[in-house]
Amino acid sequence: MTKEKWGQLREGLQTTVGKHNFKSWIEPLEFASIENGVVTFVVPTRFIGNYVLTNFSDQILHHLKSIGSQAERLDFTLQNAPAATAPAKAAAAEAEPAQNGLDARFTFDTFVVGKPNELAHAAARRVAEGGPVTFNPLFLYGGVGLGKTHLMHAIAHELRQRDPELNVLYLSAEQFMYRFITALRERRMIDFKQLFRSVDVLMVDDVQFMAGKDSTQEEFFHTFNALVDGQKQIIISADRAPGEIKDLEDRIKSRLQCGLVVDLHPTNYELRLGILQSKVEYYRNQYRGLTIADGVLEFLAHRISTNVRVLEGALTRLFAFASLVGREITLELTQDCLSDILRASDRKITVEEIQRKVSDHYNIRLSDLIGPKRVRNYARPRQVAMYLCKQLTNRSLPEIGRRFGGRDHTTIMHGVRKIEELKGIDSQIADDLELLRRALEA
Ligand code: ADP
Ligand code: MG
Repeated sequence: MTKEKWGQLREGLQTTVGKHNFKSWIEPLEFASIENGVVTFVVPTRFIGNYVLTNFSDQILHHLKSIGSQAERLDFTLQNAPAATAPAKAAAAEAEPAQNGLDARFTFDTFVVGKPNELAHAAARRVAEGGPVTFNPLFLYGGVGLGKTHLMHAIAHELRQRDPELNVLYLSAEQFMYRFITALRERRMIDFKQLFRSVDVLMVDDVQFMAGKDSTQEEFFHTFNALVDGQKQIIISADRAPGEIKDLEDRIKSRLQCGLVVDLHPTNYELRLGILQSKVEYYRNQYRGLTIADGVLEFLAHRISTNVRVLEGALTRLFAFASLVGREITLELTQDCLSDILRASDRKITVEEIQRKVSDHYNIRLSDLIGPKRVRNYARPRQVAMYLCKQLTNRSLPEIGRRFGGRDHTTIMHGVRKIEELKGIDSQIADDLELLRRALEA
């Protein structure tokens, strides 16, 4: 790699990151060296270095690798500073956890409650009240970025606030394993057992990582039983239900199912919008004077449906960018600044897919779903399908009408309204909708 080579390569990044991002973040990078897989750039400010590291590392490394460079990691050096003394800190300071391993921002106050997470939230609240243990363990599960860790930290914060003497231990399954192995190696198993047996509340995050780790599981099983026997609260999270974790001993699975098992469902539009609104409040205080145009949050909530972490990342980038260029956050700026994220989460659901899923779900033929027959058995599923098309695709009512056997747009509108009305009073319809939506968005 040489400076010239980087110059050429850099141009290729423009299409990946968008031209605004390119101007603000990539152009200022001056290639310095590549050594042992570490690529060093000189940057004008620490902020730029950190920003590039969090947002564009993958793309840059990908481009470098594509020309055969052995690039594994990025590093940044400040301009006008001796290289050895001023490397930009790799980890963004803001994300540093507090001493106790808990993120101070993950509280109940900052957790936005919506239909997909209301049960998990209620259960977490209940546990956070302390008092006699009612269900043990509390098992929270759900996909990546849906708020499991946030809820666990929130419980820990709340419990500690209520009773500072309470011994609350939060750790990931990997940390549990690490401590266990270290204890074995250093022959300090007695200390290990004592530590874990003496807690009042034990939280183990991402327990699916214990799959296949037999001796760790064994130890976890004993710890678990000892605590349950002692009436101590245990809270566990995983990315799937206990029964679905492969290579986890059956006796552990059944133990995990003994208490209350609740799942966090994939986010829906309303929840995403709620989360964005609450985060914007926070950013408004951080970046005073920045304005955000109408419709931007709705656009993001609509377009980024993968998970909350991605949604948050998008908002962070947007605000950082807008504050740097001192402009209002408009739809145009959003599209440009987030083009990579938007493209990645651009999985379009089609009308045909919806029609197929709905007819499968109600066990009727596709031709009957689309066809003219007006009997209830067909008409209701048809309206459900119309409603989902309106919600999950960008198609206009006339376009949807055309795909439903050439129906008029007023018929579609009527169908959509009917379902909107029914979903509030008919729980069967509400469940069907939720199920179908999840299946479609998966
Ligand atoms: P998980 O542990 O399920 O992978 P996290 O708890 O780490 O997910 O959540 C990912 C990010 O999304 C965190 O920054 C968290 O604060 C945020 N988040 C998730 N759900 C919510 C919510 N309902 N309200 C506010 N923030 C949320
Ligand atoms: Mg987590």
